[in-house]
Amino acid sequence: MLTIAVQKSGRLSEKTMELFRECGIAFQNGGKGKLKAVATNFPLEILFLRDDDIPECVADGIADAGVVGENVVYEKDRAVKIARKLGFARCRLSIAVPKSWEYESIKDLSGRKIATSFPKILSRYLQENGVQADIHEINGSVEIAPSIGLADAIFDIVSTGSTLLSNGLKEVETVLQSEAVLITSPNLKPKEKALLKKLTFRIQAVQRAENFKYILLNAPNEKIEAISEILPGMKSPTVMPLALKGWSSVHSVIKEDDFWEVIEKLKETGAQGILVIPIEKMII
Ligand code: ATP
Ligand code: MG
Repeated sequence: MLTIAVQKSGRLSEKTMELFRECGIAFQNGGKGKLKAVATNFPLEILFLRDDDIPECVADGIADAGVVGENVVYEKDRAVKIARKLGFARCRLSIAVPKSWEYESIKDLSGRKIATSFPKILSRYLQENGVQADIHEINGSVEIAPSIGLADAIFDIVSTGSTLLSNGLKEVETVLQSEAVLITSPNLKPKEKALLKKLTFRIQAVQRAENFKYILLNAPNEKIEAISEILPGMKSPTVMPLALKGWSSVHSVIKEDDFWEVIEKLKETGAQGILVIPIEKMII
């Protein structure tokens, strides 16, 4: 049985459970247990915890794996391995100062007071940059610290920057980019290791599918070679004759990132009736 620690409620909870569902894993009472949820079709049990407790729980072997933000992994600094980046809960951890401060470089922070919930990450960063500052640990409402005279600067999570702006702050140093990750205990038993491999294989298939689209189009037969060059597909595109003589249907997959560029090229080459469909799973 694989035990995975997941955030009980917060920014990671829903996406994590959704990822398990996309991996084909179903839970008793829809995974809405208070402390635990047991999967009905995979030897998996979920423990719901505060995200701060997840690295320790995995390092101690209470859970075999966990899903948590990279920022929390680095802050807690426990003996865990990052097995896979999961692509959600993306944010950055930055130093911000009051807008009126004519900030020039990190040296300006020497001797200043910085409020944060991530003292370890900050202290490592300051040390790397040869700056000595006074780190003041607080657990919430970090962004109001300068305006109430608690600190000169802050170090906190930023996603869009609008919270900083509304508190009269500006971002001056990006220290860390973070996203949700799957962490594992370094001492997994062979059985749990095998289960985890099975799960990460599924996660990989789901993640890959999210980055690709299935594309179908019609084209005159003489254009198929040119179109195949634009749409290499997993091996090569599928080409099927249409009932209309001299025309074929071409099927392939394209990367989400290349999407608009590819579509433009296809149209220029003579493709018509282009359909683009999401892919649920992709195994290569
Ligand atoms: P808990 O009650 O479990 O301790 P929390 O309040 O510490 O929860 P959340 O605010 O739910 O944590 O955030 C969880 C993680 O999501 C953070 O550690 C970070 O990795 C990421 N995160 C936080 N804020 C944002 C944001 N605004 N945008 C994207 N990701 C974020
Ligand atoms: Mg927390």
